[in-house]
Amino acid sequence: MAIVRGRFENAPVVLASATPSIETRVNVQRGRFARVALPERFGGRTLPEIAAVDLRRDAPERGSWISPRLVEELRRTTEAGEQALLFLNRRGYAPLTLCRACGHRFNCQNCSAWLVEHRFRRALVCHHCGHAERVPETCPACGGLETVVPCGPGVERIAEEVARLFPDKRRIVLSSDFPGGTERLRSELAAIAAGEADIVVGTQLVAKGHNFPNMTLVGVLDADIGLTSGDPRAAERTFQLLQQVTGRAGRGAKPGRAMVQTYQPDHPVLAALISGDAERFYREETSAREAAGLPPFGRLAALIVSGADRAEAEAFGRSLARVAEPPPGMMVLGPAEAPLALIRGRYRFRLLVKAPRDTNLQEFLRHWLIRAGKPRGSVRVAVDVDPMSFL
Ligand SMILES: [Zn+2]
Ligand SMILES: [Zn+2]
Repeated sequence: MAIVRGRFENAPVVLASATPSIETRVNVQRGRFARVALPERFGGRTLPEIAAVDLRRDAPERGSWISPRLVEELRRTTEAGEQALLFLNRRGYAPLTLCRACGHRFNCQNCSAWLVEHRFRRALVCHHCGHAERVPETCPACGGLETVVPCGPGVERIAEEVARLFPDKRRIVLSSDFPGGTERLRSELAAIAAGEADIVVGTQLVAKGHNFPNMTLVGVLDADIGLTSGDPRAAERTFQLLQQVTGRAGRGAKPGRAMVQTYQPDHPVLAALISGDAERFYREETSAREAAGLPPFGRLAALIVSGADRAEAEAFGRSLARVAEPPPGMMVLGPAEAPLALIRGRYRFRLLVKAPRDTNLQEFLRHWLIRAGKPRGSVRVAVDVDPMSFL
């Protein structure tokens, strides 16, 4: 939007980022954008040293999520009077709740998603539709008493572990779903910057832009989250996020370091992060996108067909595919179940259009939708050209 607006106003637009997107980099290569480099970090600080913790070898103890190496580093850092950040991009207490007697898993009644336990709200919550229910005392499937257990960690659970490991250290948990909104968040960020916490546990809220001069250690608890999604930008987004988060360490006078827990230290995203060779990662990712004809080298459009009745939605998706008539060079894929196959009680199917860069995609989509005719009943079609999200 800023670029479109800048064009209308004939005004220069500055896109400032330590982690520019591949789209922006390619626009520089094509000569559409000019590049202005600020090669040094603010205040002349060096970038933090980043080490991988291979969870296959340095596994945390049972029921714990922080590896012994990272625990040791936390101890050293806090004893030196410095601050540490533990990063996990998962809100709540546990991402999954199940019955250990019968295996029943708690999922949302409206969405194809697990319910996330939020202990401070004492509820199981759906992150897609907001549905909430109490954590039951007995399993609804087998009636087992006290058999319902949380599975996996969210930030609230990590905070609990930190409290157990370091009972006399001051902790702050930062997550977007705590009451108090931006007001509370702002005061907590100021408190951290003022040194009023020893260990901070946070979601991606803490990744961007904040300056904590006494923070010298960042621990990434699960660097693999996000690498496996079906989104063509998954690798790039994970790399950007991890670079931003680890960049919180060592912004003051003392040098910083980061430890990244992962099961796949050889994954290109992690290898690039650990070696500090961002340019190599961007080169490889850019040529992979070019080879696959993905943005910014090709264009995508997503059509989400949704309906209260699964069969009706799927049938309309199929009839859309039948009348697609893509011109040479263009491809229509699907319909396939969308990654989130059910949201708010609506079943979702996705068709994906892959087209060369110079295609008039809007024109094609318009004629296609006219050919397909109006969907019946509760069925709706949502069109997303150049989608930023693929759920
Ligand atoms: Zn059960
Ligand atoms: Zn839901």
